[in-house]
Amino acid sequence: MSRSFQTGGIVLRNNRFGEIHKGVTLLSPDHGLFSAVAYGAYSAKGKLRSVTNPLCAGTFFLYRDPVKDAVKITDMDCRDFFEGVRSSIAKFFIASVWLEMVLKTFGGDAAETFALLRGSLRLLEACAEEAAPRLLVQFLWRYLGLAGCAPDTGACAGCGEARGENRGLVYRRGVSGFFCRGCAGAPGAGGLVPLSAGALNYLAYSRGLPLEKAAACAPDAASFAALKQALLFLAEDFAGGPLNSVRTGKGIL
Ligand SMILES: [Zn+2]
Repeated sequence: MSRSFQTGGIVLRNNRFGEIHKGVTLLSPDHGLFSAVAYGAYSAKGKLRSVTNPLCAGTFFLYRDPVKDAVKITDMDCRDFFEGVRSSIAKFFIASVWLEMVLKTFGGDAAETFALLRGSLRLLEACAEEAAPRLLVQFLWRYLGLAGCAPDTGACAGCGEARGENRGLVYRRGVSGFFCRGCAGAPGAGGLVPLSAGALNYLAYSRGLPLEKAAACAPDAASFAALKQALLFLAEDFAGGPLNSVRTGKGIL
């Protein structure tokens, strides 16, 4: 990395320091997760004020100060502002879950994660509000898949017995994998989420589809509701604890 460089990126988080300076955490396809400083971005006239808020995506022009070992944002060409996501409470909470997941758990391939996040946000921006929960499910399922943490939909994680496409499996809070009834055991503190054959077939089938097509179909409403709950739990299992966005989005997500 030379002193001046540029990269694509999505802003995941801000933090204020001093009166007017903004710390910006970015996901870049080239450099993964990193922090940079937008000096003056909290002042009324700061040119980086709006384009360094969470969700903004585009090209960042950066300068690495070798003495301070800090990266400064000198300019930003914002290509996606995601106004449609910001103006819908339901979409905004979904996007917040995605950003928090990446912030807390990123450790994989930066280019793949960036492509999934930006592609999901662009579809979320454009979709009807009732389609948004399907994108939530698809993002989480694909993100877990990239991390190698997506449970097998075809067999019990306990006894290994093949599921067969007419049978469901059970998600158990805090335990990775889906289980047959016999292996799922009694509901623990977190409870069990039964997943129908339709929900599991949907996960298995949609894995091979482009995101847009996968999010255009879904199992029946009850199966989908259970699937969404199980994936939000799996996301928290993967993050190693509760997600603030899931807690605050309860009843909306
Ligand atoms: Zn079993």
